[in-house]
Amino acid sequence: MPLRPPAVFIETFGCQMNEYDTELVRSILKDSGYRFTDSADTADVVLLNTCAIRENAHNKVYGHLGALKALKEDKGLVIGVLGCMAQNLKKDLLEENSLIDVLAGPDSYRALPELLEKAAAGRKGMAVDLSEYETYTDITPDRIEGVAAWIAVMRGCDNFCTFCVVPYTRGRERSRELDGVVREAEALAASGCKQVTLLGQNVNSYRDGTHDFADLLLAVAEVRGIERVRFISPHPKDFPEKLLEAVAGHPRICKHIHLPLQTGNDRILQLMDRTYTRAEYLALVDQIRTRCPEIILTTDIIAGFCSETDKEFADTEDLLREVEYHLAYIFQYSERKNTIAARKYADDVPAGVKAARVTKLVEFQRGISLKKNLEMIGKTVEVLVEGEGKRSRDQWMGRTGGNIVTVFPKTDTSLKPGSLTSVRITDATVTTLYGEAV
Ligand code: SF4
Repeated sequence: MPLRPPAVFIETFGCQMNEYDTELVRSILKDSGYRFTDSADTADVVLLNTCAIRENAHNKVYGHLGALKALKEDKGLVIGVLGCMAQNLKKDLLEENSLIDVLAGPDSYRALPELLEKAAAGRKGMAVDLSEYETYTDITPDRIEGVAAWIAVMRGCDNFCTFCVVPYTRGRERSRELDGVVREAEALAASGCKQVTLLGQNVNSYRDGTHDFADLLLAVAEVRGIERVRFISPHPKDFPEKLLEAVAGHPRICKHIHLPLQTGNDRILQLMDRTYTRAEYLALVDQIRTRCPEIILTTDIIAGFCSETDKEFADTEDLLREVEYHLAYIFQYSERKNTIAARKYADDVPAGVKAARVTKLVEFQRGISLKKNLEMIGKTVEVLVEGEGKRSRDQWMGRTGGNIVTVFPKTDTSLKPGSLTSVRITDATVTTLYGEAV
């Protein structure tokens, strides 16, 4: 290791799990003497923590690599690609793009210090083996302290939805032990964190041999100092009554469920191998709303999956109308290398049709989101203050238990980030509630 520790700049793409993994990588590298910087210009090492789930995330990474070329030529920058894209493309990436010195997949971050040391000496390397056991449970993520934090409670996925690359890039499902997760939540609470989000590709599959996900959720909700617990994402195929009971019954478990639908058409659901039907999904929504009427539901949608007809697409729009989600993340299907869909089905919906379907659904959903938010006017909600508003330092910004961004004036001087306060809603847009502290 040189006298002055090398400076690392990490750029993170994709989902919350990747954000969490970046915190793990920071911790691993910090322990090996690396320091961190906030731009590629001042870095000796640039790591791109990548996502392979959608084509545009993929393209963005290639764009960033191109932008690093000059820096590499100027000062011999070491460039590493981490995460799902590294895992999925393996050797292709090393061979095709000589800019890259290091590849490390999601189960190989412990190998990074050695890989980077070798790269600094001019030797490229990669570590992309998937593990059945790696959960990094002994590593404390190097977080930027704040009022909210993520905790990964399981890694990998065994579901093999036909469109999804995650089972190939993140490997088999494995869960951390409940005690380890609770200790992490206790440490977070001690550092001032008020909200934790439990992360897993399919959290209802969580099993540590003794406990299921509902046990874990309740245990974390009992950690003194943690005011709110969230989780993403459950799979609609197995949403046990016990978990619903926990969400509905515990005051510190947020009344928000992100329930990925993907499509409202039965034939497409079957092609995606989602293992539930439209009717079963709707029955679950009913069950959730009956048990917990104040629940906020959000979802993920893929438009333009292989062979989806206009009529089948209309079933998705129709389901959005019926369920009235508070928010939906809507994407067009993009074929991912190695997935079952890539091997079995033709990606035959024209790009223009996919784009038009996304635009149509986004517009439609915006109307629903606005309607739902306008219905909040006059109600009083509990908000966890996260910081100052983006538009004005005279405003606080926080979120409701249902995860809706809420902005209100700083009239109460006792509030600070991390405070929970009641806010009476006076106005709303598609994405934001406005109100006053009461
Ligand atoms: S449940 Fe399906 S969509 Fe979610 S990570 Fe697993 S394979 Fe992918």
